[in-house]
Amino acid sequence: MPIATINPATGETLKTFEPLGDEEVEERLALAATEFATYRTTGFKQRSEWMRAAADLLSSEQEDVARLMTTEMGKTLAAARAEVAKCVKGMRYYAEHAEEFLADEPADAPAVGARRAYSRYQPLGPVLAVMPWNFPLWQAIRFAAPALMAGNVGLLKHASNVPQTALYLGELFARAGFPRGCFQTLLIGSDQVERVLRDRRVAAATLTGSEPAGRSVASVAGGEVKKTVLELGGSDPYVVMPSADLDAAVSTAITSRVQNNGQSCIAAKRFLVHADVHDAFTERFVERMEALRVGDPMEEGTDVGPLATEQGRDDVEMLVADAVGRGARVLCGGYIPDRPGWFYQPTVVAGVTPEMRMFSEEVFGPVAALYRIADIDEAIELANVTDFGLGANAWTTDPAEQERFVTDLAAGAVFVNGMVTSYPELPFGGVKNSGYGRELSAHGIREFCNLKAVWIG
Ligand code: NAP
Repeated sequence: MPIATINPATGETLKTFEPLGDEEVEERLALAATEFATYRTTGFKQRSEWMRAAADLLSSEQEDVARLMTTEMGKTLAAARAEVAKCVKGMRYYAEHAEEFLADEPADAPAVGARRAYSRYQPLGPVLAVMPWNFPLWQAIRFAAPALMAGNVGLLKHASNVPQTALYLGELFARAGFPRGCFQTLLIGSDQVERVLRDRRVAAATLTGSEPAGRSVASVAGGEVKKTVLELGGSDPYVVMPSADLDAAVSTAITSRVQNNGQSCIAAKRFLVHADVHDAFTERFVERMEALRVGDPMEEGTDVGPLATEQGRDDVEMLVADAVGRGARVLCGGYIPDRPGWFYQPTVVAGVTPEMRMFSEEVFGPVAALYRIADIDEAIELANVTDFGLGANAWTTDPAEQERFVTDLAAGAVFVNGMVTSYPELPFGGVKNSGYGRELSAHGIREFCNLKAVWIG
């Protein structure tokens, strides 16, 4: 994959970059290692000051950064602005809470025959972050903010189609006052990741992206006995039961499926609707999907922009064609609009069966698969049938059903009467092939720490 900015709304290549050579990679690794030796000794107060300054800087540059993201990967400008605001919030959150999350944890000293016993969180060292293009700022920041606040240093290998956002991130922290080696962008291809990961100066890695990329990075890291956190794909279920507020369930279903032009790991992708409300839900859902404005993501009022890459658009088209070829019905959309760029019309597909790829694979575009379910048992069985387990949505006002969904949905998050979203205050991550480890909250900042047991006699 070339390292380049290619505007997905037009297909035009705007800027290309040469990947770093071995010497340049070596320079950055050396700087990360030397920087870590001193940065790890800085206090929380100092790190918080720098993190707040970085948040202020990002906030003041919101419009430019938003436009850059829209140009590189096609999300609507409104969504890009919201993403910047979310990053600012996440940075301030960790600036405020890191010290409390990483405070020494006292243990029962007499029970272990000590005068004092406690656990201490300490940073691990340089962490490699392999990141995706779909939330090009947020994915990187939700790693960087806790990592830097914990005293780690970061090396960002961003997706090859968002190089300018990657370079912006590589400068942001240094411009805010962090020493230069604390956070560096490596403009490298995915074929250069293994070499960096095997380097003994790199302590750990986190990858957000597809399942194959996760497997590859985790197996290299496993061979080197290095800790990894993996945030991979998802095919989140969205269950609607008869007691649900149907208007809210429909509106939220639309947002969840088409946000970020349908390219979110935690987008609802499979809609499991109870027979009692299935027809009413379907009618309103299809009507709303058809009414969405597909167009230039820079234009105010556009609901759905292009997919980020031509390959991504072709993958979505192939999944729909596969389902239709095996008997699924297209209720709306199901085609590539006649315009330049990598657009795909918002689509609803019904009658999806297990032999269709869409039944078990992630559809990374604005395509909803609709299922009719008879009862809560069938809903849970179908919800859990895929190998993914990232998020799950359930709509019901019945407390017993709510409890059942919370207990039995196999996912890293269950949102009842709402849409799965990430918040700095809540842990984020998956089970099964959606990955392991957690980001965000107190749990996220502890992932790349050595939890040192301390015993003083
Ligand atoms: P991707 O193709 O896996 O790329 C993600 C990153 O991994 C990129 O930086 C890519 O570099 C790199 N990469 C790809 N193959 C690699 C390999 N074999 N070894 C090392 N690095 C490799 O995924 P994507 O298309 O950008 O993102 C979409 C996927 O990410 C979806 O499956 C989505 O669900 C998932 N996602 C998950 C989360 C989550 O939190 N769970 C969040 C967002 C997205 P290049 O660009 O140079 O190929």
